[in-house]
Amino acid sequence: VYQWIGGDEPSDVASAAREQVDAGFTALKMNATPEIERVDNPATVEAAATRLREVREAVGPEVDIGVDFHGRVTKPMVKRLASAMEPYEPMFIEEPVLPEHNDALPALAAHTDIPIATGERMYSRWDYKEVFEDGAVDVIQPDLS
Ligand SMILES: [Mg+2]
Repeated sequence: VYQWIGGDEPSDVASAAREQVDAGFTALKMNATPEIERVDNPATVEAAATRLREVREAVGPEVDIGVDFHGRVTKPMVKRLASAMEPYEPMFIEEPVLPEHNDALPALAAHTDIPIATGERMYSRWDYKEVFEDGAVDVIQPDLS
């Protein structure tokens, strides 16, 4: 079980993270970025990494932090964001691309050491077949409803 933490500013997410850990959660999940351009600038990448860094520093290394990309980040930006986030050791990056772009996941898996999660928009076992076969995804998240 993880608890969601919101907030756009680094200090907001850090205090939200501390509150949830104080409440007993050992895993958290947060947005990776606000809206982002197809190919965005270094400040955007830095801002995303800073939010994660603030949360990591707030909760320490014994709390897991999932980072949800919501499939709204493009392939070229996912690589840059993942590289910038690696020092803060997220538990996983979720939906780094939309399922229709799952063919991009093996290259991403080769690019980053962060586990990759996906599945909430995949609705049949056939949607999962490719990601199981290519081994790029580490955590599957079927939407049970
Ligand atoms: Mg999600």
